[in-house]
Amino acid sequence: MKLYEQQELKVYNSLTGKKEVFTPLTEGYVGMYVCGPTVYNKVHLGNCRTFISFDLVFRYLRHLGYKVRYVRNITDAGHLENDADSGEDRIAKKARLEELEPMEVVQKYTVDFHTILERFNNLPPSIEPTATGHIIEQIEMIKILLEKGLAYEKNGSVYFDVLRYNQQENYGILSGRNLEDMIANTRELMAQSDKKNPQDFALWKKAEPQHIMRWPSPWSDGFPGWHLECTVMSSKYLGEQFDIHGGGMDLKFPHHECEIAQGQAAHGVAPVRYWLHANMLTLNGHKMAKSTGNNILPEEIFSGDNVNLSKGYAPSVARFFMMQANYRSVLDFSDAALQAAEKGFNRLMEALSILPNIPEAEHSSFSVQEWKQACYDALNDDFNSPGLIAKLFEAVKLIYAGDARKAQLTASDKAELDQAMKAFCFDILGLRPVDALTEGTQDRSRLAGVVELLISLRKRARDNRDFQVSDQIRDELQKIGIQLKDKKDSTEYVL
Ligand SMILES: [Zn+2]
Repeated sequence: MKLYEQQELKVYNSLTGKKEVFTPLTEGYVGMYVCGPTVYNKVHLGNCRTFISFDLVFRYLRHLGYKVRYVRNITDAGHLENDADSGEDRIAKKARLEELEPMEVVQKYTVDFHTILERFNNLPPSIEPTATGHIIEQIEMIKILLEKGLAYEKNGSVYFDVLRYNQQENYGILSGRNLEDMIANTRELMAQSDKKNPQDFALWKKAEPQHIMRWPSPWSDGFPGWHLECTVMSSKYLGEQFDIHGGGMDLKFPHHECEIAQGQAAHGVAPVRYWLHANMLTLNGHKMAKSTGNNILPEEIFSGDNVNLSKGYAPSVARFFMMQANYRSVLDFSDAALQAAEKGFNRLMEALSILPNIPEAEHSSFSVQEWKQACYDALNDDFNSPGLIAKLFEAVKLIYAGDARKAQLTASDKAELDQAMKAFCFDILGLRPVDALTEGTQDRSRLAGVVELLISLRKRARDNRDFQVSDQIRDELQKIGIQLKDKKDSTEYVL
């Protein structure tokens, strides 16, 4: 038996704040639900990181031999601009701005979402249900919650009764918040509201006359509350209790807290056994925001068409960069970090391409078995991808040493190393070998090398006060579309 087969997978459960041994409800099977996007806009890079993180989880569970049912929803209805259940429906607002039918908005941005995730080499989920496809089920669940006395109807809308729920259960179990404190800190004006308490949340909202997306229900023509769709679709496809629920850290409260309350109230059982949350992505040390310009769209990484980037990067380079941090850590995105990731990624792919050519020896100077075990140990420690990557670079060093006749591998160790490296890089980390040194990338990186050489020659000319040569370099580059920008200590350029 191979060593790694005896190892246990541990995952960090946000519910308990601890790493726990992962034991699925049914041996050999895993049910996993991840909150998907609201399809009214181009997918945010931070969201891509969340979905790439859970793609790693999905890929690794499959690699371990589990049969995984991965459900990720599409929110295509009834999501209001602010969580206080007021404001305009985001999809309807976009439809008005773009002069499209709401379902055209949904289609447009669902296609965009799939295209971007496919470029990042994310595997599609097993089921991708939509909120509008499950209106009947959502109405049924509201009826159950009303029957149980944990919801109430007011003026055609239905709300979840958080105070009543909290008498029996614990609203705040996931986020660690205390309901009394929440109530004490609430400043929301209740005079205009149909809610009994500000903490109550909408299960069904009566539609205003101008609201386009609406469905008939026993209470009014309206639309479901956002939190409800996840409870309904996860329990429909994965059961009343399932193994893993994932999402971005920002969804922990109120969204996931409300999901727990709804599931517990409707089915009498905690819906999820392991809650996993992926952390956010910052850009140049700051929160990404369209309003400040500190923002990058995923496609701009590939094209390089963004002021924060010096050039474009292959999707696998961006993915490799994200894998260099644990999914639970904040990750800072920058051009310099991507350049470093590109070098690392290309070196890793190059090592893989030279591995078959290194000569075979009688004895190995390196234990492939122990190394492989250490790789699995990293992954079994809450999907520690940076730990795995560190081990991959140990192997890269060995491969280069083998190539220089400074290390030895037997034929069988070489084959095992090759097989394991490919499994870790491609099957589990989800990198694409084709993204390395593809023609465009290689040309670009060669061109960058040439431009950097010219910049250093220009600097030398200027240091020698030979302004004729330095200006000539600048002007000739400008003619072929490469503009140099002199900064205090350096010269920047865009290819
Ligand atoms: Zn959700």
